[in-house]
Amino acid sequence: MKRKYLKIIFITIIMVTFLTGLLGCTQHNRSQNTPEKIEQPNDTDTKEAPNTPKGDEDILLEQEEEKHPIDKEEQQVIEEIDYEIVRPNELGEVMILMYHQFGKTERDIWWRSFENFEKDLQTLYDSGYRAVSLQDFITNNIDIPAGTTPVIFTFDDGTNSQFNLIEKEGELVVNPKTAVGIMKSFYEKHPDFGLEATFYINDVAFAGSRGTEKERLQYLLDLGVDVGNHTFGHTNLAQANADNIQSVIGKHYRKMYEYFPDYRHYTLALPYGAYANSTFEYIVRGEYEDLRYEHGAVLLVGWKPSPAPAHKDFFPTRLVRVRAGEGELQDMYYYLDYFEKNPEKRYVSDGNPNTIAFPEKYKHLLDEERLEDKKVITY
Ligand SMILES: [Zn+2]
Repeated sequence: MKRKYLKIIFITIIMVTFLTGLLGCTQHNRSQNTPEKIEQPNDTDTKEAPNTPKGDEDILLEQEEEKHPIDKEEQQVIEEIDYEIVRPNELGEVMILMYHQFGKTERDIWWRSFENFEKDLQTLYDSGYRAVSLQDFITNNIDIPAGTTPVIFTFDDGTNSQFNLIEKEGELVVNPKTAVGIMKSFYEKHPDFGLEATFYINDVAFAGSRGTEKERLQYLLDLGVDVGNHTFGHTNLAQANADNIQSVIGKHYRKMYEYFPDYRHYTLALPYGAYANSTFEYIVRGEYEDLRYEHGAVLLVGWKPSPAPAHKDFFPTRLVRVRAGEGELQDMYYYLDYFEKNPEKRYVSDGNPNTIAFPEKYKHLLDEERLEDKKVITY
């Protein structure tokens, strides 16, 4: 039933965006500030809407446009916030959580039991964290309520305990006993938590699941989560030469373009967190056959939270992550506790994605070049 409902919403969105020619616009906004896309001759983004007489389409377009002058509303929200109570700190630290396998119940740094994963979501939610996509994080487009903290979910290796499809009444649906199944049902109960994640895949994603690889990836993209590059062969890039690096990275994009010509996610999680300084430039940008890639973010393996995108120490091509575990050295629960004890370290949103608010004393930590058109508010 819920799936049906989502489908209707999805179809409606498609229809509205098609009619108004906004699909390109929406996608463009999402990919703005991200690395250059590999040239695609039939890029719909650049196509102008046909010049037709004013009809329903134009009315819809105008309605959409009316929503755009949100500045006034946003302004009101800013005025309503009591900075001394909310104490926003948009230069604070953010956890990019790193998950691997699911299901095993005994303690293992690379595994999380399904029950513990549910507990992780509930704990984060109850502690005022809200899921944000990596894409929105690296482009500094963090849109969560005032007083809450962004958290980013990443899943490496494309294993079928993270996600697989099962058949139900003749339809392929997500297995509820997977990380995606758990996130989806948590989101249905707590829509304000958000459903955002990036799945870093290798050669064949979620092998062993029902459906084709394309169907599985399509399901994730329809759900609104992202698929990122974890290299073909799960290659240790510290030991690979420039050609190998570009090949194992490029093969992922080759496949994704074959499946989804509009695919444009440009982040890579380094297998083993490994790279060599001498060849790092080929990890960030390179060429494979007729494809060219440039990554907006390169993710290391974890040991600490990331600086905020407007912080002067923010390096999107060297993003650190936090291990999503418990009882390990410097894992998610360690940092939940750390942020409880050191609230001034934690990123706290002012509720307005167009402003960067933080205590005056942190002004020296701001990278003004990253502000773009965002307004700074100090208190
Ligand atoms: Zn891996």
